[in-house]
Amino acid sequence: MDKILILKGNIIFTRTADRFEVYQDSYIVSVDGKVEGIYKVLPEKYINCTVDDYGGRLIIPGFVDLHLHAAQFLQCGIGMTKQLLEWLNDYTFNLEKEFQNVEFAKEVYTKFADKLVANGTLRACIFASSSTKGTEVLFEILKEKGIGAYIGKVNMDRNAPDFMIETTEESIKGTEYLIEKYKDEKLVKPIITPRFAPTSTDELLEKLGELAKKYVLPVQSHLSENIDEINWVRELYPDSNHYSDVYNKHLLFGQTPTVMAHAIYLEKDEIELVKRNSVTLVHCPDSNINVRSGIMPLRKYLNIGLSIGLGSDIAGGHKIALNEAIVRTIQLSKLLSMDQPEYEPLSVSESFYLGTKGGGTFFGKTGSFEEGYFFDALVIEDNSIIADRYGLEDRLERFLYVGDDRNICARYVEGNKLK
Ligand SMILES: [Zn+2]
Repeated sequence: MDKILILKGNIIFTRTADRFEVYQDSYIVSVDGKVEGIYKVLPEKYINCTVDDYGGRLIIPGFVDLHLHAAQFLQCGIGMTKQLLEWLNDYTFNLEKEFQNVEFAKEVYTKFADKLVANGTLRACIFASSSTKGTEVLFEILKEKGIGAYIGKVNMDRNAPDFMIETTEESIKGTEYLIEKYKDEKLVKPIITPRFAPTSTDELLEKLGELAKKYVLPVQSHLSENIDEINWVRELYPDSNHYSDVYNKHLLFGQTPTVMAHAIYLEKDEIELVKRNSVTLVHCPDSNINVRSGIMPLRKYLNIGLSIGLGSDIAGGHKIALNEAIVRTIQLSKLLSMDQPEYEPLSVSESFYLGTKGGGTFFGKTGSFEEGYFFDALVIEDNSIIADRYGLEDRLERFLYVGDDRNICARYVEGNKLK
């Protein structure tokens, strides 16, 4: 028997980045967790099915966050006057080491997961910490929540404080343990996660590349975020052509599906490699500003046709809510265009697309309501922000700019309503 779910309301999403698809006062039908169709009048065959009638509310795809650090959740909004490398040393490593304590991990990751889901992120690519036990806790908590996620135990075997570093063997062993345990999960799966090139030896990267290949697992890491970091990579890897080449040489750059966060200062050759290897880049606007990394030339990358999603990048970013990242993306693109008029600012539909279908593509068919897409949806109640005199696109824009978790009244992942 097929599992049929029918919602009624004002349906709005992006099939392409240039415009919204708007279905006023319509029905959206999900069969076995996938969108079957959108109808103004319900077809005869569904006439006896129950309808969740959301009246005048908005029904939109769930948000997709392609880059965030669960183990930095407590640090959101702290140390925001530091630059990246200083910030990591002064704050982040000291916090991440606590996740070796399972009780601490449970407490913080529960708060993290509650906040993530409350804010409508239904798919996410997440860095945990280097603790295998702590990362296992995060897997269990997110499984319970019912959202889709890739979770990575963070691999580091050099250039971090002693209390954070594992030997190469320990790091690989812990990673493989988690892969074996969670590789067949439906929604919450492992992802290979070298923190970034500077905290990895050649040997670690090589072994991680082998694991990605052996288990056909996706990869996530950081790329070209900050000038000091790039210079450091050049010193550490003198034989590599550029930053991207370090990962590419070790089969960690698109040989399996790969997301790379930041990618602000890519050289011409790197951009070509990103495109050729179909690597997905993650724009993290809040973190670009907070740790003063620089601004990703997003419009330039979009014009070239690179695949891009958005990341809250907590705690480089200070807000976990992805609607904030969608807004900041637009704002940063305006700022960039003032200096460089050839980069046209992003429209609301373009930025919304990046935060839904753009990132969602990394999880297969998610982030849109086209036929065959997983039915991942949010129901938005916006009476409290007095928007009823406006059209649906205006109301969505208003929710993105001034709304928050209190406006999200229901969440669905693959046709299941979350508790
Ligand atoms: Zn990050």
